[in-house]
Amino acid sequence: MKTSIIAVGTELLFGQTVNTNAAYLSDRLNHMGFDVMYHFVVGDNPERLREKLAEAFRDTDLVLLTGGLGPTQDDLTKETVAGYMGAGMYEDEQVVADLRSFFEKRGGAMPENNLKQALLPAGCVPFYNASGTAPGFALTKDGKTAVCFPGPPREMTWLFENGVKQYLGQFMEKKMYYRVIRTIGIGESDLEMLLMPLIDGQTDPTIATYAKEGECTLRVASQRDTLDEARSAVDQMIAKIDTLAGEYIYSYDNEDLNEVVVRLLKEKGLSISAAESCTGGLFAAALTDVAGASEVLSSSYVTYSAAAKASELGVDPGVIGRCGVVSAETAEAMAKGAKARSGADIAVSVTGYAGPDD
Ligand code: AMP
Ligand code: MG
Repeated sequence: MKTSIIAVGTELLFGQTVNTNAAYLSDRLNHMGFDVMYHFVVGDNPERLREKLAEAFRDTDLVLLTGGLGPTQDDLTKETVAGYMGAGMYEDEQVVADLRSFFEKRGGAMPENNLKQALLPAGCVPFYNASGTAPGFALTKDGKTAVCFPGPPREMTWLFENGVKQYLGQFMEKKMYYRVIRTIGIGESDLEMLLMPLIDGQTDPTIATYAKEGECTLRVASQRDTLDEARSAVDQMIAKIDTLAGEYIYSYDNEDLNEVVVRLLKEKGLSISAAESCTGGLFAAALTDVAGASEVLSSSYVTYSAAAKASELGVDPGVIGRCGVVSAETAEAMAKGAKARSGADIAVSVTGYAGPDD
């Protein structure tokens, strides 16, 4: 189903608030198989919101809006959406009761402007908000549906998970299944070239590449009548990807590299140690981030200076003098030193220019 997201709030246009709501909703909707086609951001201005609503409803069938549902004067989303869709407003008794008990628990009187939050468009499906005061709602007219959420991300995500997600289920004709493959040692364009025979002319499953820091990710997704069909289409496509790019793949299930390293070491019953210079312990920190890393790593070394490389790892100062600190010879001597002193099965070393000045 074609979908748009409209984030309402002048603070978003000023750059004071980052539009995380749109990112969250897009991610969740894509997972569910909705076709998110547009993001709009509009200030707290009813005319401009009407214009964007018209544009969104012209091109898509489901429009999610966040922001502008609060009690203050600039909160105009609800009235604008109701007006646009030709619905009057009613006072929702449950929201009134919820508001009164919310303020009672806080031990204060309810500012009267809060009752504005109990007004909802006639004929809507309300989503009561246990994580805040403003309810959300869905309103349908002529096969087009608007779903409105309050702006605070905690409330928006709560309502999505506790009501809206289930409500949106009625629009999903197809089931979506996807897997995320992680690769290393190849750039995005090279990976795409490698997979071109599969990517070219793809309809379903789709293959999308994303460049991330230091690695490249592949998302293989399928939408079919049943989840089993979608899963088997994705798995078959992954087998084909494997034959073309298998040597670069380190995870077929979106695991982080450090998790995979620890898992493989455990499976093989091997231990590891490191001798680090410019990374200052980052390698060991990445491994110890993983639960159960103590089974594979018992000690690791940070030797920043040439003197430390000699005293801690037994690196021959002559090698450093002859070849330099950043050299294959020094790196090899560091790794050998770490392996000998730690007793680990595998030792890696890192030396290079990565200090604050380089
Ligand atoms: P509102 O519902 O418009 O009164 O928004 C309340 C608060 O929610 C704002 O002050 C923002 O901090 C936050 N907020 C609103 N819209 C967004 C958004 N699209 N993404 C992230 N935070 C938002
Ligand atoms: Mg606002």
